[in-house]
Amino acid sequence: MAPVEQRTRPSRPTGGKGNGQWALGHREPLNANEQFKKDDDGLNVRARIEGVYAHRGFDSIDPADLRGRMRWWGLYTQRRPGIDGGKTAVLEPHELDDEYFMLRVRIDGGQLTVAQLRAVAEVSTRYARGTADITDRQNVQLHWIRIEDVPAIWATLEAVGLSTTEACGDTPRVVLGSPVAGISEEEVLDGTPAVDAITERYIGDPAFSNLPRKFKTAISGLQDVAHEINDVSFVGVVHPEHGPGFDVWVGGGLSTNPMLAQRLGAWVPIEDVPEVWAGVVGIFRDYGYRRLRNRARLKFLVSDWGAERFREVLEQEYLGRALTDGPAPPALDPVDHMGVHRQRDGRSYVGVAPTVGRVSGEVLARLADVVEAHGSDRVRTTVQQKLLVLDVPEDRVESLVEALDALGLQARPSRFRRGTMACTGIEFCKLAIVETKARAAWAVDELEKRLDGFDVPLTVNVNGCPNSCARIQTADIGLKGMLVPGPGGAQVEGFQVHLGGGLGLDAGFGKKLRGHKIAADELPDYVERVVRHFAEQRTEGERFAQ
Ligand code: SF4
Repeated sequence: MAPVEQRTRPSRPTGGKGNGQWALGHREPLNANEQFKKDDDGLNVRARIEGVYAHRGFDSIDPADLRGRMRWWGLYTQRRPGIDGGKTAVLEPHELDDEYFMLRVRIDGGQLTVAQLRAVAEVSTRYARGTADITDRQNVQLHWIRIEDVPAIWATLEAVGLSTTEACGDTPRVVLGSPVAGISEEEVLDGTPAVDAITERYIGDPAFSNLPRKFKTAISGLQDVAHEINDVSFVGVVHPEHGPGFDVWVGGGLSTNPMLAQRLGAWVPIEDVPEVWAGVVGIFRDYGYRRLRNRARLKFLVSDWGAERFREVLEQEYLGRALTDGPAPPALDPVDHMGVHRQRDGRSYVGVAPTVGRVSGEVLARLADVVEAHGSDRVRTTVQQKLLVLDVPEDRVESLVEALDALGLQARPSRFRRGTMACTGIEFCKLAIVETKARAAWAVDELEKRLDGFDVPLTVNVNGCPNSCARIQTADIGLKGMLVPGPGGAQVEGFQVHLGGGLGLDAGFGKKLRGHKIAADELPDYVERVVRHFAEQRTEGERFAQ
């Protein structure tokens, strides 16, 4: 690549007057979200929680904090119980609010020590009615949190190095990382130093606490963190001259307007990842569209500019230097790390499947004891809502597998338990139209009985609304929550089916098939039909997504 000075400076991106792009001088807030962010930095709400709200209770909370800024510290009001999905779009936000919160704990890189696991378990048991869900972004979500308990929860988590800072809100969210970073025999390089450096330097930094919308990051020396659908991803690749480093991707995201990330064609050594990351976030902050919330993700800017222009702006305005051209990483099958695998150092790691990511404070506490008793201090969460135990001596593996199985954490799960994810759904989510977790778990149990022995990789992602938190478009069978006509014409909870999506080798979005709308009660019947049909037609070695 030519040095920066010799290249033609790109014309200033226009984006149209009034898209709310700060770099073009449009600083006036164009919607209520931009207004509350301008009125006060979301990070400042912590002082009010600790100083006022935790003492005076739920009713004392300023509405702009309650439905806006508290997200900057991982807090969302949860859905008031008993409101059906038909009312989601009809009621005002305050009518959906419960006085309890969901609290998201960020687990950057999916990295947990036994002490951290115990702290999460303690918070779950003492303050969250025992709830704990592992999310598909490696976080843990707790429910039924009272505002009065939040300072004590932070004290418990922060004493072991965990945090809820910018776990939600228009901020840099949790940094995804390979759960087997540093131990994998296959990884190109260990991305952990970059995950840690970004988290330490930039999370909680007011320079990046007012972004147009959320910003998602993935870093891996393997291809195990859904790099195609993050705002920025660093994917391990070997440069023919410079050796192992990262290929940079930008502008991926799902929701109602899904887009796959684009490569910038740039190779970045690991020590430069934080600087390049900050440049990409800076572009998003300064040039991102702030007028409409549904066009504010980075993917819309990348789609309008294209990768070449994005790279030019990154190099010229944010880095002040040219990046090194680099090769594309080979497309690989996604890996989920389930089962027993050998580490580089001769020990083993064991991947287990809690059903649809749902565990509990009690299970996590017992898991910590089991992990410690088997000589390990490291647990990992995955982007498939699963768990890994690292550093297990070879002679302790089978004992660990048995102990985990007794906790309902299977190391040799069926394809259905292994490949099914579900978002939060109507149980707690204010945007939900249908129930997800319990239905998906029921479907897994049913399918295991009906299709015993089915052994082809299969992903079934169950979502409670079109927002795609559990990645409907990239599943073999993606289920989007909606109301559908039931018997007698009444509207009942159901799903629009998307078939044939995938990541990795088969990266692409599933097709929404006309007429494939099913009532929620038909979920296992439908999946059974699709799987039986596939099994009958399947040619040798064919994967589901082909
Ligand atoms: Fe809530 Fe919809 Fe996201 Fe599910 S997909 S967690 S229902 S917003």
